[in-house]
Amino acid sequence: MRYSALKILAEGLTGNKGWRPIWRQPEPKAEYDVVIVGGGGHGLSTAYYLAKTFGITKVAVLEKGWLGSGNIGRNTTIIRSNYLLPGNEPFYELSLKLWEGLEQDFNYNAMISQRGIVNLFHSDPQRDAYVRRGNAMRMAGADAELLDREALGKLCPYLDFDNARFPIKGGLLQARGGTVRHDAVAWGYARGADSRGVDLIQNCEVTGFLMNKGVCEGVETSRGTIRAKKVAVCVAGSSSRVMSQAGLRLPIESHVLQAFVSEGLKPVLPGVITFGAGHFYVSQSDKGGLVFGGDIDGYNSYAQRGNLPVVEDVCEGGMAIMPMIGRARLLRMWGGVMDMSMDGSPFIDKTPISGLYFNGGWCYGGFKATPASGYCYAHLLAKDEPHPTAREYRLDRFRRGHMIDEKGSGAQPNLH
Ligand SMILES: Cc1cc2nc3c(=O)[nH]c(=O)nc-3n(C[C@H](O)[C@H](O)[C@H](O)COP(=O)(O)OP(=O)(O)OC[C@H]3O[C@@H](n4cnc5c(N)ncnc54)[C@H](O)[C@@H]3O)c2cc1C
Repeated sequence: MRYSALKILAEGLTGNKGWRPIWRQPEPKAEYDVVIVGGGGHGLSTAYYLAKTFGITKVAVLEKGWLGSGNIGRNTTIIRSNYLLPGNEPFYELSLKLWEGLEQDFNYNAMISQRGIVNLFHSDPQRDAYVRRGNAMRMAGADAELLDREALGKLCPYLDFDNARFPIKGGLLQARGGTVRHDAVAWGYARGADSRGVDLIQNCEVTGFLMNKGVCEGVETSRGTIRAKKVAVCVAGSSSRVMSQAGLRLPIESHVLQAFVSEGLKPVLPGVITFGAGHFYVSQSDKGGLVFGGDIDGYNSYAQRGNLPVVEDVCEGGMAIMPMIGRARLLRMWGGVMDMSMDGSPFIDKTPISGLYFNGGWCYGGFKATPASGYCYAHLLAKDEPHPTAREYRLDRFRRGHMIDEKGSGAQPNLH
């Protein structure tokens, strides 16, 4: 079933009786070529590109809950490619390019909205750092524009430019950045994978790996044993727990990150705005709610809820740049479990165990990576070699001393 304006019109005139569920509910088979563990954004996009681009369709995605129940449906929906380091920037730019054609590609409305993202700067040295970042972005083929105070004032007149503590001196704009409706991304990829023959199996928790003489030959699940030539794990916040079942210890810690939504307001924000002297980012949803967030809670946890000190810290960040936000009422908030790596950058790699592959360590930036992560993971699974843009995302980079420390905070996962 293809979606189109004509289809909507035809269904509207015939009582909407022709719509069908957008994926099947298959029983797990005994064996697959590739078993993907985790039905989040990355697992589903991997399955989609495996089937569509690399022609591998004997694939199952195993999800312990329902598709999209994890961070893919919990994030603040920001996409961008405003990275500095050569290990990161080409990868995130590939992702942004894939976002730009995604809705046509998988024929699903994911409400991709390139409204722009502005990173505010508050001092001269910070402006210089953003100039450097903007140049790095342009050299990788991305767009970047430095806005001075006057240009920023035209775009966002309500910002507190003369705040005594954090005066706003300008911003780095990436006009192609923006937001995407997060759960529609999961549904679109799921539908695209399912229609190409991939089995999407919900309520199927992986409880162990089938090992034979050091080779991974499948998985044990709550719905029985499933054999596979290749097992591809991408379970985000559950990475350490799942990989420990194969005896692997990862350079990853799990932390909670919260998100917040205000009551619906008239359109006020042009795009995404981020605070440069603290951690606060905000956009406005199509329903009018201000969608915002800040730092992780800072302690290890698998709970999908956070604590009050961070609520205060996030709201203080918002008040520092746009005091008007204090007039809006908070409607809802929730938490997700983040797979924070030691240098703040992800992994897409083979593991030391033959037949077992790993994708994770996305910290709180993995939503924007969903298309490229799936594409590059599928490339690795299909060809057994890394995609050129994901070459640096190796598990052994700490041993080799090749950290990708975008923020420069050192091996300190709760600071990235
Ligand atoms: C509050 C919040 C705000 C965020 N904001 C942004 C943002 O604005 N921009 C951005 O780029 N990123 C953001 N992120 C990060 C982003 O959401 C994640 O990095 C990304 O979604 C992780 O990849 P995923 O979609 O595959 O994860 P998930 O959706 O969590 O998928 C992993 C899946 O694995 C399943 N699973 C776990 N264990 C097992 C098992 N044993 N067997 C089977 N299945 C299992 C889980 O149920 C889950 O569905 C945010 C995250 C949060 C929580």
